[in-house]
Amino acid sequence: MFDSLSEGLQSAFKSLRGKGKLTESNMREGLQTVEQAMLEADVSYPVVQDFMQHVTERALGKRVLLSLRPHEELVRIVYDELVSILGPVDSSLHLKKSGCTVLMLCGLQGSGKTTTCGKLSQLLLEQKITPTLVAADLQRPAAIEQLHVIGRQLDVPVYSNPDEKDPVKVCQAGVKHAEANGSRVVILDTAGRLAIDQELMAELSRIDKKVSPDQVYLVVDGMTGQDAVNSAGAFNAELELDGVVMTKLDGDARGGALLSVKNVTGVPIKFIGTGEHFDALEPFRPEGMASRILQ
Ligand code: GDP
Repeated sequence: MFDSLSEGLQSAFKSLRGKGKLTESNMREGLQTVEQAMLEADVSYPVVQDFMQHVTERALGKRVLLSLRPHEELVRIVYDELVSILGPVDSSLHLKKSGCTVLMLCGLQGSGKTTTCGKLSQLLLEQKITPTLVAADLQRPAAIEQLHVIGRQLDVPVYSNPDEKDPVKVCQAGVKHAEANGSRVVILDTAGRLAIDQELMAELSRIDKKVSPDQVYLVVDGMTGQDAVNSAGAFNAELELDGVVMTKLDGDARGGALLSVKNVTGVPIKFIGTGEHFDALEPFRPEGMASRILQ
């Protein structure tokens, strides 16, 4: 998934290794290759600049040049810095000790919200918790039925009201319904749009205010690169996000988007989607990702 990033970094460090003793000038050369690789992998410019500044400051410290294995030390610095900006780790759904926890998923159309409702349900079922799903995507004609199909497949209740045109009312009624049934978790599947628009933001903002979800997760399509970053910025400006789920990282996605989305929103990357099936959801692990980048 981080092919472009890792290839660039691999070649950067390979060229450094070939040079024997590390000098300040060939170290800067190696770091420039790192910078180039990150830009090519779609990491946005300010994020790359920030990253390079930290890495360069640390790398130019005497410790690297004086260390017995300066090349390894440099790789470690890049690795540590990557882990640090990808973190912190938090894939907890922060379920309340008592009562019903309301999770709201939002994102553009096609980002993978409805699929992620199924994946999170599967995760909760593994913990012996049966969530209630609420079909609040009244924009996409097939979305309600899609959620019912998921509900039937996983044997999870789904609340919908095809006669109600106001998604806020659907969410409110869905939460009430779930509470009455003793559900510990409700997942709201909200509508997206093909692109960011004011109507979408106003709708989500109304749901956020009137329903007060405990956790709001943005679902972004990892294959859309810079567009994912731009949409994350727009959602983040409107809603108080608690986390991000980045989907479709099983494809040949440019991993750079993940770094940038993290930077733009400032909230943890909770999970990554790695396929269409319900079990294709992984808790996000910065170390795993950074190692993969540096392989
Ligand atoms: P929504 O409009 O945001 O609800 O998006 P959907 O959940 O309907 O997902 C849109 C498409 O993306 C569907 O074909 C899903 O099967 C697919 N999809 C969702 N998550 C993933 C993922 O992690 N990997 C892959 N390969 N496909 C995914």
